Amino acid sequence: MTQPFAIAIHGGAGTILKTQMSDELKQEILDALSKSVQAGAAVLEAGGDALDATVAAVKVMEDSPHFNAGKGSVLTHDEMVEMDASVMHGAQQDAGAVAGVRHIKNPIALARDVMRDSDHVLLIGEGAEKFALEQGHDYTEQDYFFTERRYEQLQSMKEKGLFALSESKYPDDKKYGTVGAVALDKQGNLAAATSTGGVTNKKYGRVGDTAIIGAGTYAENNNVAVSTTGMGEYFIRKTVAGEVAARMRYLNEDVHTASETIIQGELKAMGGEGGLIAIDANGDVHFAMNSSGMYRASVGVDGTLTVKIYADE
Ligand code: ASP
Repeated sequence: MTQPFAIAIHGGAGTILKTQMSDELKQEILDALSKSVQAGAAVLEAGGDALDATVAAVKVMEDSPHFNAGKGSVLTHDEMVEMDASVMHGAQQDAGAVAGVRHIKNPIALARDVMRDSDHVLLIGEGAEKFALEQGHDYTEQDYFFTERRYEQLQSMKEKGLFALSESKYPDDKKYGTVGAVALDKQGNLAAATSTGGVTNKKYGRVGDTAIIGAGTYAENNNVAVSTTGMGEYFIRKTVAGEVAARMRYLNEDVHTASETIIQGELKAMGGEGGLIAIDANGDVHFAMNSSGMYRASVGVDGTLTVKIYADE
């Protein structure tokens, strides 16, 4: 019998309003999500490792202008792009992460390299970029990441003195656009990967949950792999990804119960808007969100491709 494999991805959760989404934009986003999840599924189908599958899927979204990661990253107060990313492999619980990276096209590949080729877990800023160049990553000018849409969003945030997204000028203005993937490979490994530009108008080297193992990303073989999206300050304080794993490990909750308990329970009560994707050791996938939508897709153990946007789908 062939061993099962499965993968799920997200392109961010938040307020996604049907009234503000043109048919054309919706189709572009659905296409990008399909392309991403299929890139990951192809790695798994060929017998590849779960971590390589999640990195392949996340890279596709980093290269798309539609998501707040890589190419489509939001801008900081100083009109720069500063990206965070992390990966975790469930076998040995190896992990790698980067924060505040400005000139690397695919921060998720850099996080993987930190895991595989450094003695550390988390590298930041200039040091992370120095390591990246040693690893053969190209130096990418900030111009590559700049999009007119993100510039206008920043100006509107600055006028209002806000640092999170809150105005509805664009379909994803109230959406946290972080991207992530979780996968089960044919060898039974679980892995998770998450990448983000953070939140618009951030200052002072702010880092969110995406770079923090146990908050934005977590993977443990024979248990679960998790990737989150939402207002990072809350996800860090509730150690959301690690909490899902802990509930399953100690309370024997299934992936659905553990995920919903956290996202709809204490996190929501605290004011933490967002969601997560999780996959268990059988390849059972759960999408949890306490917002009106989350860009998401999966290829299940039965090979079925699912792509969705709104919470009520
Ligand atoms: N979690 C990310 C952060 O706080 C934002 C997002 O999900 O878009 O940096």
